[in-house]
Amino acid sequence: MTHIADSATGNPTEADLDRAERHAALFSERASHIKQSAVRDVFELSLDPSLVSLAGGNPYLQSLPLEKLGSMASDLIREEGMTALQYGSGQGTATLRAQICEVMAEEGITGVDPDNIVITTGSQAAQDVACKVFCDPGDTVLCEDPTYVGALNTFEAYQVNAEPIPTDEHGLIPSALRLRIAELRQAGARIKFLYTIPNFNNPSGITLAAERRAEIAEICIIENILILEDNPYGMLRYSGEAIRPLRADYPEHVIYMGSFSKILAPGLRIGWAVVPAHLFRRFYLAAEAVTLCPATFNQMLISKYLQEHDWRGQIQTYRELYAARCEAMLEALDEYMPKAVSYTRPEGGFFIWVTLPEGIDTYLLLSKGIESGVVFIPGAAFSPHDGPSHRLRLAFSAVPEEKIREGVKRLAPVLAAAIAE
Ligand code: PMP
Repeated sequence: MTHIADSATGNPTEADLDRAERHAALFSERASHIKQSAVRDVFELSLDPSLVSLAGGNPYLQSLPLEKLGSMASDLIREEGMTALQYGSGQGTATLRAQICEVMAEEGITGVDPDNIVITTGSQAAQDVACKVFCDPGDTVLCEDPTYVGALNTFEAYQVNAEPIPTDEHGLIPSALRLRIAELRQAGARIKFLYTIPNFNNPSGITLAAERRAEIAEICIIENILILEDNPYGMLRYSGEAIRPLRADYPEHVIYMGSFSKILAPGLRIGWAVVPAHLFRRFYLAAEAVTLCPATFNQMLISKYLQEHDWRGQIQTYRELYAARCEAMLEALDEYMPKAVSYTRPEGGFFIWVTLPEGIDTYLLLSKGIESGVVFIPGAAFSPHDGPSHRLRLAFSAVPEEKIREGVKRLAPVLAAAIAE
């Protein structure tokens, strides 16, 4: 704000206001649809040490081999700096793309041609590219209700209507999907894709049941709707049987998005998309147009890490750590929550979704939570339709067990008071 202020008073001058107004007229129509994520707003609060933040779904990086990563990074600069610090392939390095095939094989996705992979700046950028390539303003995409707030913001920025499809404890409901597609088509909607987080959904923690995956894929195939499968948490399963990704069984109909953010480190900003060959070229060109190439150094560092470190062991360490935190949160919820409150029991991922009686707006409880020393994300953030929500998201990934317990203990009376009102 220093540029639009009178240096003596700190207030904007007439000239500043005039300039700001004239420049504001230059914003694109699209820019008015770009919103600050509600999660980001609340995230700021996580920095206050007196509060227990169950808001942010940050990975817990303390268990990373930092010394080892440090020497890998310095070796890379010394020994291969001319390549690592240079522009690279727009598609991402061939080495990392081949290694990504090994990573995906852990979840049953085999036979992928590395040439059908584009490395992106986190999977967030892959969502952006998918919208750019498939969606015009006014088009429709389908998503789970609730769904990832970052994807909703991307849809909004592209002026795309995101249609939430009801879910239950087994994930997206196929009959509801079928019905909504029929209604939307009747109303003339151009439906481009279904965006789904089948494993440990953010925010609900719910996993899409195996039988439903097949049914949903069949519906989308018949209706000529692509599937965007977003699977950043798939490898972080703590209990139950692994379920095959949609990409493993429907390779021609699915754009699959993966990420190193949750299995290694989000600050490296490396994710990827696997795109069917017949859709690949445009997807790749759109990705390249934004970044020229994904960060070469970061890709090479990840390659080195995958070659020289027991990355499967690291994922196992993460799994054990998060499993204990998930368990601690569930135990605390069982102990402290009022009877009228229910919550999901995730088998993996970072999140638990809490449901209060209808009519309570969890957004209005946020300030009361903060007064009591605990932060959460109100449920409305995870639905494309404005309006109050009687749900909220708790993240257990970034907080040690004792703090999780303390946070839930602080939250319980806030919810009990709202229920009693
Ligand atoms: N999809 C989901 C469901 C997420 O929860 C997140 C991050 N929280 C992302 C995508 C973005 O991840 P990345 O760091 O790979 O961009």
